[in-house]
Amino acid sequence: MNRAILYIVFFITIAIPNPSAVVFAQTSEDHPALTVYQKLARDIFHELIEINTTMNVGSTKASEAMVMRLKAAGFPEKDIQLVGPRTKNMNLVVRYRGNGTLRPILFIGHLDVVEALRQDWSFDPFTFLEKDGYFYGRGTSDMKCEDADIVTNLIRLKSEGFIPNRDIIVALTEHEESGDANGINWLLTNRRDLINAEFAINLEGGGGDIKNGKPILMEIQTSEKIYVSFQFEVKNQGGHSSLPVKDNAIYRLAAGLTRLAKYDFPIRLNETTRTFFERAAGRETGQVRSDMLAILKTPVDTAAANRLTASSAYYNALMRTTCVATMLKGGHAENALPQTASAIVNCRMLPDDSVENVLATLQRVVADSQITITQLAKPSMGPLSPLREDVMNNVEKLTKLMWSGVTVTPVMSTGASDGRSLRRAGIPVYGVSGIFADIDDVRAHGKDERIGIKEFYDGVEFMYGFIKAMTSEL
Ligand SMILES: [Zn+2]
Repeated sequence: MNRAILYIVFFITIAIPNPSAVVFAQTSEDHPALTVYQKLARDIFHELIEINTTMNVGSTKASEAMVMRLKAAGFPEKDIQLVGPRTKNMNLVVRYRGNGTLRPILFIGHLDVVEALRQDWSFDPFTFLEKDGYFYGRGTSDMKCEDADIVTNLIRLKSEGFIPNRDIIVALTEHEESGDANGINWLLTNRRDLINAEFAINLEGGGGDIKNGKPILMEIQTSEKIYVSFQFEVKNQGGHSSLPVKDNAIYRLAAGLTRLAKYDFPIRLNETTRTFFERAAGRETGQVRSDMLAILKTPVDTAAANRLTASSAYYNALMRTTCVATMLKGGHAENALPQTASAIVNCRMLPDDSVENVLATLQRVVADSQITITQLAKPSMGPLSPLREDVMNNVEKLTKLMWSGVTVTPVMSTGASDGRSLRRAGIPVYGVSGIFADIDDVRAHGKDERIGIKEFYDGVEFMYGFIKAMTSEL
């Protein structure tokens, strides 16, 4: 979609229930300030955090716990599937039947979490803790908050008798954090029938940004950069360190890496990053604002682009493929000339870049035929998902209702998520979540992971409105 159409889309409105009007009026007994569905969301979240789903343990127990809740809420057994390659690694796929007017919509999330050690944390990472306005625990932000959110809303919609105009499929999967062996890839290969959909919503990847305590931006993820690593290696015949020669494996490698350090891949914007900078400019002032507008011109204003990329590692990563040395190894003894020296260079390619192009560029920049460059694992490619009007509209509308003044923008993730496999399989994916988090305090995968309590409940309410809007007659 071009920018002109995007602007038209921006102003089209459709009927979305007002979130403040749809909050269930009843409150629960042990948390009197919470509505019934807030209490349910909290209970599910609590349960999920306290089920350890790290790689060694697997996510089956968490999947089973969600199955129990869905069955109790009236989802028929045939619409709830526990499938996967191993008993400890079962993915949950549930289908909420609609009237079949449109093709299904798929929501995806992962149940697994990154390892967390008690001694590294201020408290037990697998005990759900509510403290000073936050929920703490491994997975609170990545991403059991969203898992609890989607399960709560399925149960709520069911109990309200809502009939969507398309099937709503929810896949809560395994092994997002630790590789491609299971989860969405396994489902695509083995049970594509369960998750076939017109498009998918990835519950991570999008969501709201808080800066200095204020919500500022709502992101819709439409694409992500592609991860690929290379090994640089120099071999040398070595010798005694008392008789050094100029041709030294470590020096050669270091010189090649220094040339790489000074190199920048060309700047290239796509539909998503163009829209991102266009909208980001609206929140900025002065030089940054004019630079953001200047890079949208063809050809790109290089001086403006250089100022932006120098000012922010994030802007830089959005505008180009990046390659950076991340590991270094060399030599075999303190008193010997090195026989080998090697480094790992990790690249994050723009979604329309190619491994061949990156490899050729690295060889050209390093400019030393004695530095052999070998590609490590084959990257998992995934195209950009074209902006969808309904996704954009509904996120815009709900954001305006719930957080007025917050800009909505499509984004390209600089990291990688499960969305790329679906995109590669021809199912466009949009990262959407109503949960806001502080962009200067990211604790996913880290110590004392947490999510704001208000942000969690608001996110659940947002998703309720979003699912309804995406699956209701216009
Ligand atoms: Zn995650």
